[in-house]
Amino acid sequence: MEMQADRVELEKSDFLQPLDSEIQTWMSKAFDMALEALENGEVPVGCLMVYNNEIIGKGRNEVNETKNATRHAEMVALDQVLDWCRFREKDPKEVCEQTVLYVTVEPCIMCAAALRLLPDIPLVVYGCKNERFGGCGSVLDISSDLLPHTGTSFKCIAGYRAEEAVEMLKTFYKQENPNAPKPKVRKDLISPPDGAVVVQVKQGPQDDESETIAPLS
Ligand SMILES: [Zn+2]
Repeated sequence: MEMQADRVELEKSDFLQPLDSEIQTWMSKAFDMALEALENGEVPVGCLMVYNNEIIGKGRNEVNETKNATRHAEMVALDQVLDWCRFREKDPKEVCEQTVLYVTVEPCIMCAAALRLLPDIPLVVYGCKNERFGGCGSVLDISSDLLPHTGTSFKCIAGYRAEEAVEMLKTFYKQENPNAPKPKVRKDLISPPDGAVVVQVKQGPQDDESETIAPLS
């Protein structure tokens, strides 16, 4: 029984297997989104969800803009897909079963789990590996691990324009992150020259809870 279920699933994603030319077209648009993220001070990850040759959701990382660590490109796109389905009164499960996600960076653990749970997306095409948070093999393999109570596994096609995706990430991490906490200067550590009373002065952001968020795809 198990084997049969696996075989059906394999056939489902094989049926969706996009042509190289399609992958290039959609990935090019995903990279446009990633560039938009980079230009807006966000981790450069962009993605599209394509159903029946139509973009039904797209997103880029919005973590800094929204100050919400969960607003990864995939989550933004997923919300759009759900809206698209609601608006057209379509069953999200039926739509997502025939939807391919194109994303410039390997989905992180959170997004991989969301992709398994919520929409049953059978195929993800991505660019570079996500060495820090990847949920499709780099850190954990949420995409294909046997997790009987956590949605459906999905297939990945990796490596499209991977070097370019990595270069964008490097460019981002080289920039100064405007949300990073400024280094605190502790004047109380400076020895007074003449035994004077030292007032402890700390410089830095008042809101210590706005620590750097280190988001990825
Ligand atoms: Zn993610």
